[in-house]
Amino acid sequence: VYKNISKSAAKLFLSLFLILSSSRSVLAVEIHVVYPREADTVNISGRDSTFIFGRVKPADAAFWINGIRTRLHPNGAFLAYLPIREGDFVFECLAIASTDSARLKRHLLVPISPKTVSSDSLVIVEDSIIPQKDWKLRPGDLLRVSFQGTPGCTASFSIEGVREDIPMTESPPLQQDYWAEAAFGQAQVPQADSIKGIYAGCYVIQPWDCGDNHRVIFQLLGSAGDTLRIEAPGRLSILDNSFPLIGELVPELTVLRTAQNGGYYYFLPKGVRLSIDGQAGIYYRARLSDQDEAWVESWNVRMLPKGAVPPRSVIRTIRVENMGKKIRVIVFTDARLPFRIEQFTQRQTLCINFFGATAHTDWIKYVSNDPLIKEIRWTQPSTEVYQMRIELDVKQQWGYDAFYNDQNQFVLDIKKPPRIAGWPHSPLKNIFVLLDPGHNPDTGAVGPSGLAEKEANMILAIAVKKKLEGKGALVSLTREEGEGISLAARPRMAAALNPDILLSLHHNAVPDGINPFKNHGTSTYFYHPQSSELAKIIQKRLTEKLKLPDFGLYYDNLALCRPTQMPAVLMEPAFMMYPAEEMLIGTRRYREQVADAIAEALEEFLEKTKEQVK
Ligand SMILES: [Zn+2]
Repeated sequence: VYKNISKSAAKLFLSLFLILSSSRSVLAVEIHVVYPREADTVNISGRDSTFIFGRVKPADAAFWINGIRTRLHPNGAFLAYLPIREGDFVFECLAIASTDSARLKRHLLVPISPKTVSSDSLVIVEDSIIPQKDWKLRPGDLLRVSFQGTPGCTASFSIEGVREDIPMTESPPLQQDYWAEAAFGQAQVPQADSIKGIYAGCYVIQPWDCGDNHRVIFQLLGSAGDTLRIEAPGRLSILDNSFPLIGELVPELTVLRTAQNGGYYYFLPKGVRLSIDGQAGIYYRARLSDQDEAWVESWNVRMLPKGAVPPRSVIRTIRVENMGKKIRVIVFTDARLPFRIEQFTQRQTLCINFFGATAHTDWIKYVSNDPLIKEIRWTQPSTEVYQMRIELDVKQQWGYDAFYNDQNQFVLDIKKPPRIAGWPHSPLKNIFVLLDPGHNPDTGAVGPSGLAEKEANMILAIAVKKKLEGKGALVSLTREEGEGISLAARPRMAAALNPDILLSLHHNAVPDGINPFKNHGTSTYFYHPQSSELAKIIQKRLTEKLKLPDFGLYYDNLALCRPTQMPAVLMEPAFMMYPAEEMLIGTRRYREQVADAIAEALEEFLEKTKEQVK
């Protein structure tokens, strides 16, 4: 619009505009709260404060939240960590400039944290009842039940049609805990009171118990002889022990856990068969051996018709092949057994447990021109577990890929170290780095002034790419500017492109209730042992260069840290939500510093892990 107007005309127009519009519209005061959003539920598990951030125009306005004066940064951004109360809660914001003022209310729901029930009346807290979901168990399994109710009473439970009046006991008072305080805060003990009146009971399912959908009824007996009976939302079915149920994994890769909602523990490819011997809500329990079980969300599993047998295999032969850039180890299984790979870096080792395998192993064929494998040993630690240990003759492990081939043989491809250029070149020369600018199509975190994390990650990635390419590295991005790619597709892309190193770039925020004034700065994340050394060096270099607080080095099961095919590290050099850091993230200087830190970290890592020429 202004292009066709001469400069002086534009100036005149502008001054006229300023005069005509007077103080009201030009200096109108605006409050924009970025977080929390209107009607958000702020789940802070018994903590008494949480944060709010956003921006105010003009930046020299005086600003209060719930009557507490709050500082505005030069760009108008604010961040406050303020007391809240459980239930419906309102942040009332007030900004006053010389000529105008503005108010804004932000309504929140703060869930009421569990509290000890008053002894005046007989109560069972319905949300506290376990089982909340339907369970399927087998004879020999232990059914554990619990609920919270009036303390100091007598409790029992019945499984209708199975067993009546099973006694329960009141547990010692339970101290409340907020996971985020231990992970991202100061690990302070919460001020919240411990909870009394938690009753627990159990029952071992007997060989003669059977039937489906048994109701579980709790009974609480008060001191005055009054009683309360309540039915659990979840019901119990007892599985027939005579025939195992067999399921097959459908997705390319499935995560199996240690318990319902438990830790990630097994990563299994498509077609692996499991003995399913229990269910809790959406989780199946898979029996791997007499010692091992795994829990998997049922949508990952296709149940096979009755009569299918549990996967079993005899392992007679292991064969090593030299494939150029990798060494292939083939274990001649004849079924897709569940397995678990553990990596060690003190003595560089890959250790694989096969569940349902028996050793008849007479032959391990090595190749004489293999620079990687020192030794392969097998053991049979229990009847159903076969263990293979591969000791590697390297300073650093560069990744592996485990899968079953079309003959149901287990294949482990172990990457050889990349060739690292000698002086006078940078060690980064010809090293293939895949950079992942986090987020998009999702926004990621948003800063108080409105900067979106997906944008900040992208412009940072472009600066890092330029820097690394200047050192001779080959660099690809998981997405180009303006493009989106789903989170799930990124690790698949990394596996397909097979870079030497994968780096994911993000900017941070703390969870609700954590004090961002005490907890901000630079952090780095890894998952597999092969990535820990690189993560340590990156964190060290970033904190040295940026001089922001050291928010920490983390083990975390993030999707971009989990690929096994290469060392993979995710970094959050600064905080999106912290005004001073958000302003910094927007500067060229910051991007240069991060790019320098990453380049230096990679050089240090490559120098350190460089193999002697053999
Ligand atoms: Zn992010």
